[in-house]
Amino acid sequence: MTVNLLELERTGFAQLCAGLGEKPFRARQLMRWIHQFGADDFDAMTDISKASREDLKKIAAIRAPEVVRDTTAADGTRKWLLEVGTGNAIETVFIPERNRGTLCISSQAGCALACTFCSTGRQGFNRNLTVAEIIGQLWLANRALGRGVDLPRPITNVVMMGMGEPLANFDNVVTALQLMLDDDAYGLSRRRVTLSTSGLVPAIDRLRDACPVALAVSLHAPTDALRSEIVPINKKYPLKELLAACVRYLDKAPRDFVTFEYVMLAGVNDSVEQARQLVKLLKAVPCKINLIPFNPFPQSGYQRSDAAAVARFRDVLMQAEYTVMVRKTRGDDIDAACGQLAGQVQDKTRRRERRPTVATA
Ligand code: SAH
Ligand code: SF4
Repeated sequence: MTVNLLELERTGFAQLCAGLGEKPFRARQLMRWIHQFGADDFDAMTDISKASREDLKKIAAIRAPEVVRDTTAADGTRKWLLEVGTGNAIETVFIPERNRGTLCISSQAGCALACTFCSTGRQGFNRNLTVAEIIGQLWLANRALGRGVDLPRPITNVVMMGMGEPLANFDNVVTALQLMLDDDAYGLSRRRVTLSTSGLVPAIDRLRDACPVALAVSLHAPTDALRSEIVPINKKYPLKELLAACVRYLDKAPRDFVTFEYVMLAGVNDSVEQARQLVKLLKAVPCKINLIPFNPFPQSGYQRSDAAAVARFRDVLMQAEYTVMVRKTRGDDIDAACGQLAGQVQDKTRRRERRPTVATA
């Protein structure tokens, strides 16, 4: 059995090198070859002795998920469909902007939390991704986008906003985050790595201690009654507990605000009255609010709020002095926008079970 080096963070590399009788600096060299230069071939690692490379070949490999499709949208958004075994596929999306490039990474094949407006949630859950499958997305995208020694970095920001609930795959996600931040790997600052969660309260507290990156919370409703309907995890962790966890998180967060995401669903959560409820609800939480146009998918049962409804909702929040952004939809011609990531998940039973909910949503 070979060890996949994409599974390891700093201590893992140190142990591996110690086991081979190598000096500790070899661990840093290896990390840099793999994560900074995108090497997958030990023979390319020219400053490591031939004997050490031969030893490594016997016990280790560098294996990312296989790319099964690679599509670029008219606006430059690029989406990779990656095979993660047993017929499951996940998606990774790169969003280029004028002064930054954001990679949106998946954390699970499917998702068990079943938010009613989310295509991933509609598919049911298959499994957690491994560390290699999570960090492998960044590794692959860096290689594909041509990051080299002298080139500027195409990926400046990472968001854990792809398929799955990252905090439900806590240990693997934290290890991957540590690699994103490690100077011998991707060297991103904590402000440039954002984890989005639907609100697993105990795990938000654990993240605060383990690896406090920037936090985004998928709110989507101003009351417990509505939120429990569309984000079912709210029944377990209602708004009061969730918002208290957000405030606690800010002690350690790299930014002095939490970002709340709010997907605009026509006639469901987009009224002026609901905007006023949101103003009151968030009074005690330093935050920014991102209004996200709903991205439709077949049989979703929802419609996107029209521009006038979004503007009215935004104005109520702005008058109450909240910072509000209306998110642009990117890559929708290749189904790469938020909530459209579907991949393929082999969980047919669950999917069939959920169909009736789809029809009545
Ligand atoms: N599970 C995490 C992260 C992945 S989803 C979470 O829920 O936060 C990333 C964001 O896309 C979340 O805010 C999610 O609510 C939103 N989203 C899901 N489905 C969507 C859709 N159809 N249109 C727009 N945004 C959607
Ligand atoms: Fe899961 Fe997030 Fe989709 Fe909800 S919105 S089902 S938590 S991926």
